[in-house]
Amino acid sequence: ERARNRLTLRNDLVAAIARDEFQLYYQPQVRLDGKGVSGFEALLRWKHPTRGMVSPAEFVPLAEDTGLILEIGRWVLRTACRAAADWPDDQRVAVNVSAVQFGRSNMVAEVRAALAMSGPSANRLELEITESSVMENPEEAIEILQRLGRMGISLAIDDFGTGYSSLSYLKLFPIDHLKIDRSFVADIETDLNDRAIAFGTIALAHSLGLNVIAEGVETEDQLELLRSNGCDEVQGFLLSKPLSSAAAFAFLHARCPAG
Ligand code: C2E
Ligand code: MG
Ligand code: MG
Repeated sequence: ERARNRLTLRNDLVAAIARDEFQLYYQPQVRLDGKGVSGFEALLRWKHPTRGMVSPAEFVPLAEDTGLILEIGRWVLRTACRAAADWPDDQRVAVNVSAVQFGRSNMVAEVRAALAMSGPSANRLELEITESSVMENPEEAIEILQRLGRMGISLAIDDFGTGYSSLSYLKLFPIDHLKIDRSFVADIETDLNDRAIAFGTIALAHSLGLNVIAEGVETEDQLELLRSNGCDEVQGFLLSKPLSSAAAFAFLHARCPAG
């Protein structure tokens, strides 16, 4: 049953690209030093003709297994760069990138083409990668990441601390942000271990000269704990859910009036 379901979904996924069923939503990342919105994370949405919204947690792994993520990833990169081109120059866009894209496509050329098509400068683009995606083939990943870094693109380690990782790579990758996973933020008020991991991540990042973004911030208390421990930026439902490109544009102008 599961295999059949997967096969149908796979066929639908092939058609989804042609039928233009994907959309990007943008979730604001807000600075805790009072300087407003620093940018948005682009999050992929699939509006399936009969199933309604399908979660990326469901279809991204399938797209990775079938290689379709290469084409979808290219669309995501180009669409996100086009959105950023409409925002003020100090706003960055963060794009999630799969391990498969690293191994099987020419990331440097893809990124260069996406930027050239819509025009935002390279320092407005951030790529979010997971530890496991770079650990699969660390030597090759370091080389690609360093080339992207030299182009001015920034890098964030997503879901930090949840996967298979080697801290020694942190000093080799040209990273700008560590993202504290939602699973450590959810119970930060009550679970002392989660709190220790979150605060430890902030201290580690700062010692390495990196900024920290906490994900999944839903309450004022979580925000205050993170702020008082030096977290640089937050993202989560407390500030905003992921927004359509029009709503993201409006959010930016409502929160940060020009000037
Ligand atoms: P992620 O990159 O860690 O994204 C954060 C997820 O947390 C998003 O789920 C977001 O909607 C959700 N989230 C944000 N704030 C809150 C909050 O306050 N509370 C709760 N409960 N959730 C919050 P989403 O959009 O369903 O994406 C799930 C995962 O799918 C992403 O995790 C990412 O790994 C992957 N993904 C999304 N878009 C893309 C894409 O364009 N390409 C690739 N390769 N993967 C993507
Ligand atoms: Mg992400
Ligand atoms: Mg994450």
